[in-house]
Amino acid sequence: MTLTTEQRDFVTAVDGFCRREAGSRDTPHDDALYRRMAELGWLGIAVPAEYGGAGQAMLDLVLFLETTAYHQAPIGGFATSVITAASYEKFAGEDRKREVLGDFLRGEVLAVSMSEPGAGSDIGALTCKAARRDGGWVLDGQKTWCSNAHLARHILLVARTSADGGKHDGLTMFSVPAGVDGLAIHGIDTMGGREVNDLYFTGCVLPEDAVVGEVGQGWRQLMAGLNLERMILAALMLGTGRRAFDDTVSYISQRKQFGRPVGS
Ligand SMILES: Cc1cc2nc3c(=O)[nH]c(=O)nc-3n(C[C@H](O)[C@H](O)[C@H](O)COP(=O)(O)OP(=O)(O)OC[C@H]3O[C@@H](n4cnc5c(N)ncnc54)[C@H](O)[C@@H]3O)c2cc1C
Repeated sequence: MTLTTEQRDFVTAVDGFCRREAGSRDTPHDDALYRRMAELGWLGIAVPAEYGGAGQAMLDLVLFLETTAYHQAPIGGFATSVITAASYEKFAGEDRKREVLGDFLRGEVLAVSMSEPGAGSDIGALTCKAARRDGGWVLDGQKTWCSNAHLARHILLVARTSADGGKHDGLTMFSVPAGVDGLAIHGIDTMGGREVNDLYFTGCVLPEDAVVGEVGQGWRQLMAGLNLERMILAALMLGTGRRAFDDTVSYISQRKQFGRPVGS
C-alpha cells in the first residue's frame, strides 16, 4: 500500500518520539507518556474534528498503533480507549459524547466491560442486571476480564435490562463513571502485569441518562464495534510481530557459538 507524504511524515514523527521517549518501562501503561501523546493530538487521531480530534482515517490510526506497538510503547490503555470512544461516538447522546471524547482527548483512559464468568464467547448469556428504579438504574452483578478498568475514567458497561425475548435482546450499554459507589474493582494477576480486572456491582446507582444508545439495543451496538476492534488488535499484533522478528534477527547475528553467530 502506498502512503501519502503526510502519512509517511506522521509515521516518522511517531517513530522518532517512541525511540526518544518510550524506552522500556516497567509498566503496561505510563500515564505521563500517554498524556504527552494526548498533547501531541495523537490519541484523537481518528476522532472527528467537531469533537476536537484530528479527524483522520482509520489507516492513520492503524499506522499509529503499529508503530507504537513496534516500540512497545507503554500506552496499554490506548487500545481499549479508542475502541470504547468509537462506541460513544456512534451511540451516545451529544452531551455524553462531548464529555467522554473530551476526556479521552485529554489523556483519560476508557474501558469496555461485557465479559462475565459465565459469558465469554457466548456474550449473550450475560446476567449482570440493570433495573429501573426512581428514575434511574441500579446495577447488580459481576463482570470479568475488563482491561484497564483500574485506569479508566469511564467504563462502557453492557448489562441486562430485560429477560424477555432471546438472549441477544434486552441488553443495554451504560456509561459508568470511575469511582461510583457500588462498584468494586479487583485486579487479576497475569503474565502481562496489571491489565485486567474483575468488577463487582452491588446496588450501584446510575442516572437515567447513563444509557448509551438505546435501551435493549446493546447487542446490535456491540456488534457494530467489533470490526473496528479487529482492525485495532491486528495493527497491534503486526507491530509486535515485526518487533519480535527484528529482535530475533539482531540476537542471532550477535550470539556466537562454535565461533560464529548462531544465525549464520
Ligand atoms: C487479556 C484479555 C483482555 C480482555 N479484555 C476484555 C475487556 O476489556 N472487556 C471485556 O468485556 N472482555 C475482555 N476479555 C474477555 C474476552 O472477550 C473473553 O476472554 C473472550 O470472549 C472468550 O471468553 P472466555 O474467556 O470466557 O472463553 P470461553 O468462551 O470459555 O472459551 C474457551 C475456549 O472454548 C472455545 N469454545 C467456546 N464455545 C465453544 C463451543 N460451543 N464449542 C467449541 N469450543 C468452544 C473458545 O473458542 C475458547 O478456545 C479479555 C480477555 C483477555 C484474555
